Amino acid sequence: KAKEMGRNNYKIYNSTMDEEIRKKIKIEGEIRKALKDREFFLHYQPKVNVRTGKITGLEALVRWNHPKLGLIYPNYFIPIAEETGLIKEIDEHVLELACLQIRKWIDMDLEPISIAVNISAESFNESKFMDKLEFILMNTAIDPSFINIEITETAAMENIEYAHNIMEELKKKKISLSMDDFGKGYSSLSYLKIFPIDVLKIDKLFVDGIGVDKRDESLIKAVVTMAKELGIKIVSEGVETVEQLEFLNKIGCHEYQGYLFSKPVTIEEIEHMMCESGDFRIKSKSV
Ligand code: C2E
Ligand code: MG
Ligand code: MG
Ligand code: MG
Repeated sequence: KAKEMGRNNYKIYNSTMDEEIRKKIKIEGEIRKALKDREFFLHYQPKVNVRTGKITGLEALVRWNHPKLGLIYPNYFIPIAEETGLIKEIDEHVLELACLQIRKWIDMDLEPISIAVNISAESFNESKFMDKLEFILMNTAIDPSFINIEITETAAMENIEYAHNIMEELKKKKISLSMDDFGKGYSSLSYLKIFPIDVLKIDKLFVDGIGVDKRDESLIKAVVTMAKELGIKIVSEGVETVEQLEFLNKIGCHEYQGYLFSKPVTIEEIEHMMCESGDFRIKSKSV
């Protein structure tokens, strides 16, 4: 009897495994096709100065315009893309789209605003990463200081020395660097000392605790104080309420992102927003 049950369990386990693997393979094929057919595009979420409320930069967030399913968000395909290595191609494509957007603004005689691009550990630790980046920068002929690279501590931890070298190369090119989702994983304050980070992004997890959990508030305060002493800019992610924003202002957090100001939106909506607020400037030319 036990044997029978065991066999049945095995069967069930096996068939769900099969199904999951089949689903993954299907999505993998669809991602390949999507790259070829240019189905990925970008939404942008503003980064905003806590004090002035002015937009200081944008973060590019990839979206998939699936021919059958419509708009798909990264949580659905980034994990599979990371597992299969396809993320390297997605990240390269996103970098190119972001640089092309900056090129467009330059061609329109508008003062470009900097764009942050998320780079997965697999992409960051690929030996061709810097070459790919340089190639894109060369082809679009943009000032590299308009690009910010967002990585998580996972990318930096894989091989600390290697990551450090890449970061130094980015610095030399005047590309700024953000540590994303700080506090979510095994984040350690010592990373701030080890790595040449320009921006530290405090994860939404902590921001959610503002006004709810004193421990979250203390943690954010401590991180802001320490980062300031190290000359690192702090961006709080996922700000949704005025109360959260007021707390961040009080403790001297520099910038924030979140639905309170804007969800990630199309480039047209960003341009509209920036024209309305007068943040979109025509380059030094007489108007
Ligand atoms: P992330 O880089 O930490 O981006 C922040 C995520 O939080 C975005 O989700 C954004 O839409 C969401 N968010 C922003 N403000 C709020 C808020 O106030 N409330 C709530 N509930 N959510 C908010 P999204 O666009 O779905 O992206 C999820 C993650 O996917 C990103 O997290 C990033 O890790 C990854 N990702 C997105 N684009 C790319 C990409 O081009 N390459 C790579 N490698 N990863 C990407
Ligand atoms: Mg990010
Ligand atoms: Mg984040
Ligand atoms: Mg994230």
